[in-house]
Amino acid sequence: MLPESGRSTDDLLAELSRLREGDLPVREGRVAAYVYDPGRPGVREAGHRAYMEMVEVNGLDPTAFPSTVALERRVVGAVASVLGGDASTPGIFTSGGTESIMLAVKAARDTRPVRGRGEVVLPVTAHPAFRKACHYLGLDPVTVPVDPESLRATPGAVAEALTPRTVMVVASAPSYPHGVVDPVAEIAALAAGRGVLCHVDACVGGWILPWLEKGTVPPFDLSVPGVTSLSCDLHKYGYTPKGASVVLFADGRLRRGAYYAGADWPGYTVINSTVQSSKGAGPLAGAWATLNALGASGYRELAREAMDAARRLREGVAGIPGLRVLGDPDAPLVALASDEVDVFVLADEVAESGWFLQPQLSYAGIPANLHLTLTGVSLAGVDALLEVLAGAVAAVRGVRPPVPEGLAEAVSALDLSALEDREFVELLASVGVDLAAPGGSGTAVVNTVLDGLEPPLREALLLRFLSALHSPHADRPGAAG
Ligand SMILES: *Cc1c(COP(=O)(O)O)cnc(C)c1O
Repeated sequence: MLPESGRSTDDLLAELSRLREGDLPVREGRVAAYVYDPGRPGVREAGHRAYMEMVEVNGLDPTAFPSTVALERRVVGAVASVLGGDASTPGIFTSGGTESIMLAVKAARDTRPVRGRGEVVLPVTAHPAFRKACHYLGLDPVTVPVDPESLRATPGAVAEALTPRTVMVVASAPSYPHGVVDPVAEIAALAAGRGVLCHVDACVGGWILPWLEKGTVPPFDLSVPGVTSLSCDLHKYGYTPKGASVVLFADGRLRRGAYYAGADWPGYTVINSTVQSSKGAGPLAGAWATLNALGASGYRELAREAMDAARRLREGVAGIPGLRVLGDPDAPLVALASDEVDVFVLADEVAESGWFLQPQLSYAGIPANLHLTLTGVSLAGVDALLEVLAGAVAAVRGVRPPVPEGLAEAVSALDLSALEDREFVELLASVGVDLAAPGGSGTAVVNTVLDGLEPPLREALLLRFLSALHSPHADRPGAAG
């Protein structure tokens, strides 16, 4: 409820800090997803202060606030110069990977007209942001399998999926789930041969792969012939405050395809480079400051530390019977699978020791696994993590998730359209899922049930979960049993 009279800043901040007690920690690397801690207080401070300095500036109108154009040109120029372009490469600063991808897909739709609905060819490991973009933009995603061992996209499968309606093909550098880089040059050449656009999703890899030793990964950036756009998130391995990504285009015509102008109304004229219209300039300033506070040498050092952490983790995992790494990651993103223990139970077990590993459900023949995104600060904790992992694997041997008898069948038979949020919350409570205590008990049960379902039903349940989470029933005392 909105209070009748205003509250003091101290009071408000105290409430924020109480609310955050239930959150996962954002620093020091025990949470192996979502957050990227540069581990350098000075760098963090530069980003935060620049962010606050620009927090009231509105990026809606670049003529009213030219500082936003100047900053965006600096940030895009810096990113382009590292990723196969130069100071004149067209790009857009966006709020994140999803928005960068949305704009790249829109540019493809609007610059490559086809008869009927356009199609976007996606290896199954491509990020869901592409399906989301297709969903929003009226295009059809066409998925193709990846190599079952390397988990890289196969150019042959991509070639077979091309039709006269294809507007774009996608390659990941690397894919988020397994950290492997797709054969970008082959896929881009294929696309170019058919006059189709090729987007490289370097959202997670774009600001770490370039800082690795030369020759570690094959070329993947805008300099590769046939690559027409590329996305690079700065709020991942750029270690900037959240809300920062860049999408680069091979030419200005493509970038204009991403833009939007609206003058068909009686109000102010709208010119938007992004999905957002009014937007704070904080993330842009925070990104610019962080890039400059770290500099190339800072990023090289953080990248080396993250890769060392990944190498140590992989070596350690090789010594833990029952645990293995999927594929051969090119970046410090590692997926752990097991033929001997239940990985969802394992995730809950390591959570008891304060570590968060991200569960990934089985899909298209790829087994269920636990994902880790390692960063510079991970290096200091990797030995402790290995100890926790070894102990947890031993502890959960033979342990199955406590899925109540008949639950999976009952869930498959649910008529979700007839179910109220309140009933859904009660159902979750009855199987031990407490919405008021996120990240707590019951995640292995939920993941196991989801894992047994086809993706469309997984999605329907996840939507209900999200709705229930945001409904008042979720925090009514006693509602969650
Ligand atoms: C994170 C990520 C995205 C989506 O980015 P958001 O910033 O979460 O919107 C897309 N592709 C890849 C490969 C990613 O890792």
